[in-house]
Amino acid sequence: MEISVSTSAPIEVVDVTERVEEVVGDDVDSGVATVFVSHTTAAVVVNEAEPRLVEDIEEFVDGLVPDDGRYRHDEIDDNADSHIRSMLLGPSVTVPVADGALQLGTWQSILFVECDGPRTRTVQVLDD
Ligand code: ZN
Repeated sequence: MEISVSTSAPIEVVDVTERVEEVVGDDVDSGVATVFVSHTTAAVVVNEAEPRLVEDIEEFVDGLVPDDGRYRHDEIDDNADSHIRSMLLGPSVTVPVADGALQLGTWQSILFVECDGPRTRTVQVLDD
C-alpha cells in the first residue's frame, strides 16, 4: 500500500497519521505496520504534531546540517545536505496495530519529513 505526500517547502513536516491509519485499518487486524519512504532525501519519524513543535522540528532539521558545506555529492546533485538530514532521521518507523488501529501514544503522530522539497513523494505502508 502506498500514500502520496506533497510538500511546498524545502524542509517540511507532514502529519500522515490519519492517512496511514485509513490504509492500515482496511487490511490489518493486529500486528505491526511499517511506514517506509523509498527516497534518500526524505524521512519518517514518530513525534508530536503540535504546530509550534512542527515548526521547531523543521527549523532544527534545517540547522542540523550546514547547507554551505563542501560536499563532494554537490558536484553532481547539489543536495548532499538533504541526504545527510534524511539519513540522520531514518527512512521508516514501525507501529503496533490492534483491532485495525495504530497503537500510538496520546501525543504520538507519524510525521513525514521532507528534506529536499518541494516534491511529491511515495510513502509505503507495509504490514504482515
Ligand atoms: Zn543527491
